[in-house]
Amino acid sequence: MSSIKQNLTSIHARIHAAELAAGRPTGSVQLVAVSKTKPASDLVQAYQAGQRHFGENYVQEALEKQAQLNAYAMIWHFIGPIQSNKTRQIATAFDWVHSVDRFKIAQRLNEQRPDNLPPLNICVQVNISRETTKSGIMLEELSDWVSVMQTLPRLRWRGVMAIPEPEHDFEKQRLPFRRLYEAVSALKQPTLDTFSMGMSDDLEAAIFEGATMVRIGTAIFGQRDYSATLN
Ligand SMILES: *Cc1c(COP(=O)(O)O)cnc(C)c1O
Repeated sequence: MSSIKQNLTSIHARIHAAELAAGRPTGSVQLVAVSKTKPASDLVQAYQAGQRHFGENYVQEALEKQAQLNAYAMIWHFIGPIQSNKTRQIATAFDWVHSVDRFKIAQRLNEQRPDNLPPLNICVQVNISRETTKSGIMLEELSDWVSVMQTLPRLRWRGVMAIPEPEHDFEKQRLPFRRLYEAVSALKQPTLDTFSMGMSDDLEAAIFEGATMVRIGTAIFGQRDYSATLN
């Protein structure tokens, strides 16, 4: 068995155990395999082990891989920072975007989503730990998005994404995820069904607090070697 396949098996076991421990239905958490900096051949290995959702951070790198992988029914998630001059490519080549944090970006994605594709699934990124260096809106701004998103028919607002400050203690990991879950629930928008939260080190805490998608890179594909990429 390849190590990617083995790693996927262990991540599925962790997700399953967390779902059970949290009293949530089996299969309520989707795994997005974060494949930035990894070659197309690694994605094929994951695909052959049953993985369908893939997350990428860099537009150019993702488009090159997609061109090599167009024979596979992969579902593509854009999870990196978004520059306005890249929105057309993102709106065309992805099924999901998790990292929307400016109205202008949402408006451009809406205008540029091709008519022959279904509406683009969107998560608004929230800077849940209020770190000055991180992307994302502040939690109090979330309610402003309700009326804006209603004017963008080519987008389907699904929920939120967050990357909290790293913490090792389980209870401390849970707090920001809980704050986010409560803030979204308070909006009372039943179509917001997606909580993209949890990575290799905190997926259990995220699942306890309602994550519906976890984004896992290192624990599936191994350490990343950034010197091998242009970005
Ligand atoms: C890289 C990345 C991940 C995956 O992180 P790992 O620690 O490798 O699991 C998840 N989400 C985002 C937004 C990322 O950029």
